[in-house]
Amino acid sequence: MGRYIESVCKMCRREGMKLFLKGNRCYSDKCAFERRSYAPGQHGQGRGKATAYATQLREKQRVKRMYGIMESQFHGYFKKAERLRGITGENLLMLLERRLDNVAYRLGFASSRNDARQLILHRHVLINGKRVNIPSYIVKPGEIVEIKEKSRNKARLNESLEAVERRGVPQWLELDKANYKGTVKVMPKRDDITMPIQEQLIVELYSK
Ligand code: SF4
Repeated sequence: MGRYIESVCKMCRREGMKLFLKGNRCYSDKCAFERRSYAPGQHGQGRGKATAYATQLREKQRVKRMYGIMESQFHGYFKKAERLRGITGENLLMLLERRLDNVAYRLGFASSRNDARQLILHRHVLINGKRVNIPSYIVKPGEIVEIKEKSRNKARLNESLEAVERRGVPQWLELDKANYKGTVKVMPKRDDITMPIQEQLIVELYSK
């Protein structure tokens, strides 16, 4: 586990920015990037100036990694975001935020999006009382996301729920911790995403 954390954190060092791949750990003083925020190696601190294309590409890769999504699926979200009313970049982020794995992570049912995906794939999550084992399911306002009753006494789940109190549940969600339930109250807004993301760079990249 320790080695896995280290290898994941190496990606942040290599990219020279926080990718938020380890859930709670990324928000704590254990974050490896906070301790040493430059790429490893002799030339880690002296990167040259990136071109506009390289900057756009890096931002896209960073967001893909944050949400754990492959290129084809990510591009699909972009196409969908373009068809929706409003600002494409914001629509893209709102779609990513409403993925079931992200909602489960934000509610504190898992300590990272990756753990949330496992929880969903292993059929521990219900939506409006029905089992859903699709991490990419887009949760709609009013839907209730819940941990199956038989799966509630897991130590990791309860640790994650403790940790989310420190991290905070976003305003568009409501957590009923005692009953292992959460509701999507309203659609998320751009301001609800506090991670440093420049979605306009991704729009520019795909619009070339
Ligand atoms: Fe590791 Fe920090 Fe990157 Fe999270 S943000 S994956 S803790 S280096």
